[in-house]
Amino acid sequence: MILEIKRTFLDRIKEEAKINQVEICGFIIGEIRGSRAIATEIKSAKNVLNSPTRFQIDPEDFLKTLAKAESRKLEIIGFYHSHPAPPYPSLVDEKFMALWPDKIWLIVSTISTFEPSTRAFIKRAEKFEEIKIIEK
Ligand SMILES: [Zn+2]
Repeated sequence: MILEIKRTFLDRIKEEAKINQVEICGFIIGEIRGSRAIATEIKSAKNVLNSPTRFQIDPEDFLKTLAKAESRKLEIIGFYHSHPAPPYPSLVDEKFMALWPDKIWLIVSTISTFEPSTRAFIKRAEKFEEIKIIEK
């Protein structure tokens, strides 16, 4: 699996992560074509935990975004969030990833104030893997 995403989307996520004191989170909307996950849109969500180290997407945001995506024959292909740490899933992330198999988790690190780095992960068939991000 690879994630194809516009550079401008990644830039928006990085910018959002840089200017917020809490972990940011949001949706990656798009479609799956074979082994390609194509992001056509990103949408930020409210972090209901309002925490600098944890996040939980507002369930109301989730339902609204899901309905809107489905009405346009798209799906939520994954989620993004930020870390005040390297961009690897935490133990808590791994627990949630297990609940959402086949969804992409894009993590942006805010450790560097210059250029936060991003990585993407997926849990499929009990296996946990990093996937390649192709910037378009
Ligand atoms: Zn995390």
